[in-house]
Parts: sequence; structure tokens; C-alpha cells
Amino acid sequence: MRIVEYNARTALSRSGMAELDYALNPYSGCFHGCKYCYAVDFTRIADAANNWGDVVYVKANLMDLLKSEIKGMKRGIVGLSTITDPYQPVEAKYGLSGASADLLLRSGFRVTVQTKSPLVRRDANIYAGHRNSCDIGITITTLNDIKAGIIEPHAPSPRARGDALKYLSDAGVKTWIFLGPIIRGFNDDPTELDNIFSLASYTGSRVIFDTYVPYRGASDLMSSGVPDYVADRSYHVDKEWRTALVRSIEAMADKYGVRCNSQQEEWLVEKKYDFGSLF
Ligand code: SF4
Repeated sequence: MRIVEYNARTALSRSGMAELDYALNPYSGCFHGCKYCYAVDFTRIADAANNWGDVVYVKANLMDLLKSEIKGMKRGIVGLSTITDPYQPVEAKYGLSGASADLLLRSGFRVTVQTKSPLVRRDANIYAGHRNSCDIGITITTLNDIKAGIIEPHAPSPRARGDALKYLSDAGVKTWIFLGPIIRGFNDDPTELDNIFSLASYTGSRVIFDTYVPYRGASDLMSSGVPDYVADRSYHVDKEWRTALVRSIEAMADKYGVRCNSQQEEWLVEKKYDFGSLF
């Protein structure tokens, strides 16, 4: 594992995701090393992308950049983070995600966090203090430890993530589960999915789901690390399978009374109901 500090040119970048205005990535690369990670294909620092999971670049000048950039900048929704996990292990040392979220929230931005790490609990008071301006999503692909160990070899256990959701929700933070990517034949078992919806209900969390997209970098990682994985795009992108899956997920959401959207429709919901009147 290597950590490289460097001086970045910018802190915030315009996001290409419809539900976000800006992206903030304090780190490049991710020690969680997930096999399906899309971020590999969007990471510009070649060393981090080519050695995924082994090296993380830290924006050492992030806070100075951010303080300067936000002066006069149009307020909006910031995704923390979009191509790395903001609460991966290096955050314990550098604290850049917590510090930048604090600054952004105090400055009138909205912040939406996505992580797999219970380390986010450390900043619960920051997020709870801005309940109407932020939310925290925790990715749960499966509650099966063995499967999680195969596709997310260095990420915290599913149980630890569930506990973090409950902790944050009890602290007054709006929480959601990112249920994805759902990989055909790997983590699409209805009983497993049902257990995740039960967890969502227990923790008062919404669910946003998505199915696996075989980007090139992710396909290479999956092929090398997941037994029996078939890196065949047509196999994974199958309309009939997806239609049946969505129907099944909608039934589970109804059963548990959990608000649930696909990743694709999420931004429409956010704009219409939650964020529309704020800016
Ligand atoms: S936690 Fe997220 S960014 Fe990190 S390796 Fe896994 S999918 Fe990629």
C-alpha cells in the first residue's frame, strides 16, 4: 500500500452526474479495491488507476483550494465522492472529507456522501447539524460476508456498514443504501435482496439501486478476481433479467415500506421533491 501526497489544481469539479452540480474527490485511487469499481475508468492519475487498491493519491492542498474556490461560486449539490471512497482508511489520518464537508455545509452547499466505511460515523455531528442539507449513502452490495470478500476485498464488512447506517440514522442524519452494483448470478438472489430491504426499513434508509455495467477497467478487475465471472457484455446487460429484477425490487420496497429508486431515476426524484426549493 502506498500513499502519495500531491498538490492538485482544483478541489471542486463540475459533475457529469445529473443529480450533482459538483464533485469533490479528496483522494485518487481507493484502498477498498472493489472488483467492479467504475472509478478505475475515470481516474486520471495513471499510477492510481493502473494499481487499483494499492496506491492512493492525497490532495494535500485540498482545503486551501476549496476555501479559495467557493468564494463567489454558485451554491449547489456536491457529491463526496464520485471516483473514490471519501471515508477509506486514509481519511482516518488526513480528515479531508470531514473537513471539506464541514466547510461546504457551513458555506451553504448541499453535500451528498457515498461510502462503504463506518469511519463516517466520526463526522456524524457535522452531518446531523445540517440535516436538511446533506445525506449519507452507504453501499451494500450483499450481506453475505464471503461474497463481499470476493468483490470488495478490503472494504469494511456488510455488518459494520449496517451498524453505521443505524448509528447515523439514530443521530438524525438522512441515510440511504446504495444497493449496487447488482451483478447477475452473483448478488441478485431474492432472499439476499430481501434482507437488504429489511435493513433499510430497520435503519430508516431509502434505497437506490443499480445494475452492473461492465466498464473496461471493471471488467478487467472482475475477470481477474471473481471466480466464474464471465466478462461478456451481452450476458450482463440483459433486458429481461433487469425487468424481472426491477419488479422484484419494487415488490420488496412495497413490502417494507421503503422509498426506492433506480440510480437512473434518482436525479429526477431529487430535483422534484428534495432539492428543488433550495436553490
Ligand atoms: S469503495 Fe467505491 S471507489 Fe473504492 S474501490 Fe470500491 S467501488 Fe471503487
